[in-house]
Amino acid sequence: MFNVEKIRKDFPILNRKVNGNPLVYFDNAATSQTPLVVINSIVDYYSNYNANIHRGVHALSQEATDKYEQARIKIQKHFNAAKAHEIIFTSGTTHAINLVANGFSSLLNKGDEVVVSAMEHHSNIVPWQMLCERTGAILKVIPINQEGELLIDIYQDLLSEKTKLVFCNHVSNALGTINPIEKIISEAHQVGAAVLIDGAQAAPHIVANVEELDVDFYTVSAHKVCGPTGVGVLYGKEDWLNKLPPYQGGGEMIAEVTFEKTTYAELPHKFEAGTPNICGGIAFGTALDYMNAIGFDAIALYENELLRYATKKLLEIDGLKIYGTAKHKTGVISFNIEGLHPYDIGSILDKLGIAVRTGHHCAQPIMDFYKIPGTVRASFSFYNTKEEIDILVQGVIRAKNMLQ
Ligand SMILES: *Cc1c(COP(=O)(O)O)cnc(C)c1O
Repeated sequence: MFNVEKIRKDFPILNRKVNGNPLVYFDNAATSQTPLVVINSIVDYYSNYNANIHRGVHALSQEATDKYEQARIKIQKHFNAAKAHEIIFTSGTTHAINLVANGFSSLLNKGDEVVVSAMEHHSNIVPWQMLCERTGAILKVIPINQEGELLIDIYQDLLSEKTKLVFCNHVSNALGTINPIEKIISEAHQVGAAVLIDGAQAAPHIVANVEELDVDFYTVSAHKVCGPTGVGVLYGKEDWLNKLPPYQGGGEMIAEVTFEKTTYAELPHKFEAGTPNICGGIAFGTALDYMNAIGFDAIALYENELLRYATKKLLEIDGLKIYGTAKHKTGVISFNIEGLHPYDIGSILDKLGIAVRTGHHCAQPIMDFYKIPGTVRASFSFYNTKEEIDILVQGVIRAKNMLQ
């Protein structure tokens, strides 16, 4: 049975007050909170076996290396990758996307086409624009409808033998839309294009099975799945990772270095130059263990209940409009109140201890599509409650009364 009161005890931060009120944390799409087991795994690392990995003969170094590589295997199993070396540790999704975009510089020619969706996070737009500038490739955009769903018919029309790459998020951080990535991937493969799916926003709610999806690249940030900031992974199919050149040069990523020629290390080390976020990688593994013990099915079911409850309650407020009403969505509600600026609503909610995000959510093209400067975004996690949603709704009503 899903017991939210018991789960909340795992998160020390949920006990704190903000501006004299109990914290109501609804900014989970920006970063998730951290359970005690994950905090403890960080403390344990620095208290007991802090050492650099892969090089030392001494006990601490071997212990740290073992734990780090065990974390890689946990992540591999979680996403059902065929091989552990298909999991590349990065500093997060942004780093993972840049790694791939940079690698494709040498594989694209002028006139090649790359396809992106209109609902991407800036980190899944800008690296590709930079790639297009470097190579002369052309960026094509899959449009969305008013509900915030991709227009798949148009996507199919955009694909041709010129298409070399498609990138799309699994779940939109601004709207919560769950995209039909199975279809996006299979259609792209029919024209021989590779697909990168940005899984940063999906990972807290859905377990992607990369083998079954047959996806070429999938990216995740630990800090959105109860792990620490500054660490994440790139999953890449072995063939693709072998084809891509290294992203950064340095220690750890080489086989042999002379001034005449350097040969690169095998996967995954070819893409892991320098000392990584060792403790972060290990804590990422602990975070996935924690969430798997609760169960992603139970999490999705509960969050969906929160989403439906919050949607219903918020829509009872006069003049409130929700952006992103896709049939399949996660617990993200982006909204505005007629005549009010999202920032003003967010500031009043903050005074009441309620953390929401306001602005364009690193997805300006979506805001342009709806012709708005931004939204207030409340995003839910499995440790939130219906009582907290009631507090949010009361807060929004209060903000509305104060501002109108
Ligand atoms: C959070 C997020 C990112 C960026 O992740 P970082 O951890 O900041 O690199 C990219 N895409 C989506 C959909 C996100 O939600």
